[in-house]
Amino acid sequence: MSDQSKWEIVIGLEVHVQLGTRSKAFCGDATTFGAEPNTQTSPVSLGHPGTLPRLNEAQVRAAVMLGLALGATISHRNSFDRKNYFYTDLPKGYQITQDAMPVCRGGALPIKLGEEWKEVRIHHIHMEEDAGKSIHDQDPRHTLIDLNRAGVPLLEIVTEPDLRSADEVDAFMSGMRQLVRWLGISDGNMEQGSLRCDVNISVRRRGDTAFGERCEVKNLNSMRYARRAIAYEARRQIALREAGQEVRRYTLHFDPASGTTSPLRGKEAAHDYRYFPEPDLPPLVLSDEYIAAVREALPALPWQLYRHMRAQFGLSDYEAGLLSEERHTATFFLELADHTPHFAKAANLIINRILPWCKEQDVPLHSFPAPKPALAELIGMVEAGEISHSAAWQELFPLLCAHPDTRPRTLAEKHDLLQQSDEEALVPVIEEVLAAFPDKVVAWRKGKKGLTGFFMGQIMRRTGGKADPRLTNRLLLERLKEE
Ligand code: ADP
Ligand code: MG
Repeated sequence: MSDQSKWEIVIGLEVHVQLGTRSKAFCGDATTFGAEPNTQTSPVSLGHPGTLPRLNEAQVRAAVMLGLALGATISHRNSFDRKNYFYTDLPKGYQITQDAMPVCRGGALPIKLGEEWKEVRIHHIHMEEDAGKSIHDQDPRHTLIDLNRAGVPLLEIVTEPDLRSADEVDAFMSGMRQLVRWLGISDGNMEQGSLRCDVNISVRRRGDTAFGERCEVKNLNSMRYARRAIAYEARRQIALREAGQEVRRYTLHFDPASGTTSPLRGKEAAHDYRYFPEPDLPPLVLSDEYIAAVREALPALPWQLYRHMRAQFGLSDYEAGLLSEERHTATFFLELADHTPHFAKAANLIINRILPWCKEQDVPLHSFPAPKPALAELIGMVEAGEISHSAAWQELFPLLCAHPDTRPRTLAEKHDLLQQSDEEALVPVIEEVLAAFPDKVVAWRKGKKGLTGFFMGQIMRRTGGKADPRLTNRLLLERLKEE
C-alpha cells in the first residue's frame, strides 16, 4: 500500500476556450452550437486550394481582454503558424495557431480555495482555430465527421505547473469559466465543449524541489472526469515511483467507463508538427492605442468585486462569493447598495428573495421588475420595525413584484400590513391580555418568566400579527413588573 501523503501532486493545465464570436476565426462561417452537421462550412474552413484566411477582429479583442484581465503582457507583434498533422476531422491538414509569438505572456488567475486565495501563474495565451469533430459512437461501422467546428476560434491558456490537487484544478476551471463569462467572450460551457483542458500531471516526494517527469491527459471536458483522471494518474505514478520505477512521458487518454488512463503516444512518437509561419496571414501588430482602448472597456473583475464586497460592504465570504459569481448579480448588488445603508440586508434580499423569485418566474435578474429605490425602501421599513419580517417577505415582497411601480409603503398601507408601533394603540391591547389571564400574571411575577412568550403570542393574535415585537415586549415587561 503506497503512502500518498508523502507525495505531492504537481499539475499544469492547457485550457481551451471556445470563443462565442458569431463567425469563425478566419472566415465568415457561422458558429452556432448544435446546428445540423456540416451546414456551417465553406471552402475556407474546408481548406480548399486557392482560398485565403482572414483574421477575425473579435478573436483578437477577446484574447487581449482576457490577457489584460489576467495581468498578462500583450505582444505588440503577433505572428501565426501552421501546426501540421493529418486527421480526418482536419480537412486542411493543419491548424492555424500561434507558436512563436503568442498574443499574451505572463499574468495570473487568482483562485479561491476556501477563504484563501492563490495566484496561478499563466505561461502564455495564444489564438488558434478548432478542428472538426469525429463522432465514434453513432454508427456501428463508421466514424462520422462534423466539420461545423472546424475553424471556430479558440484561445489556449497554458498555466505554469502551479496547481497541487484536483480541488485546485476545479477552482481554476471554475474561475476561468467565471472570467470568460464575465468578459462575455465565451459561455464557458464544459458540457458543450466550450471549455476543456489537457491536464499535465507529475508527482514528487514532499520536500523535493525538482519536478518529476509528467504525463499529459488529453481533452477532459468535465470536472468530474478531470478529478477522476487526476486521482487515477497520481496513484499510478506514485505506485511506479515507490516500486523504484520511472514515470515515462506519455500523452494519455482518459476512459470514463473504466476510470483509467491509457497511452495515446509516448515521447518517442511525440508529434512533430513542423510548425512554420502561416504564409497567408501577415503578422498582426497591436498598437498601444488599441490595447489601451480594450483596457479602458474592461469591467471590474470578479475577484476585485469580491474583495470590495467584503472590505467596503462587510459581506460574508458566502455572500460576496455568491454575488460576485456572475457579473449581472454583482451589478445588481452594487446598484442596490447605492440606495441603502443596510448592505448585508441588501445581499440577503438578493440571495434569498430576488434570485429565487427570478428562477421561479424564469426571468433574468436584469428584468427583475421592482426598481432599486423601492427595494431599498422595503429594506428600510423592515429595519425600522414598520413591518414584520413575515409580512414583508410573505406579503409585501410579492405585492411589490406584481406592482413594481407603486411604492412599498403605499402598498403596505393599502393592504394594512404596517406594524402597530404606536404605543397608544398597543397599550390597551396589552392591558386587555393581562386582564384576561390574571393567574398567569401572578405566576410570571412569582418567577415563571417563560410566560412572556405566551403573553406576546396573545397580543400578536389580537393585533393580527402587526404589533411591533420590540416595542410590545418593552411595554409588556413594564406592565408585568409594575405590581
Ligand atoms: P511543452 O513545451 O512540452 O508543451 P511546456 O513546458 O510548455 O511543455 O508545458 C506544458 C504544460 O505542462 C504546462 O501547462 C506546464 O505547466 C505543464 N508542466 C510542465 N512541467 C510539468 C511538470 N513537471 N508537472 C506537471 N506539469 C508540468
Ligand atoms: Mg504544450
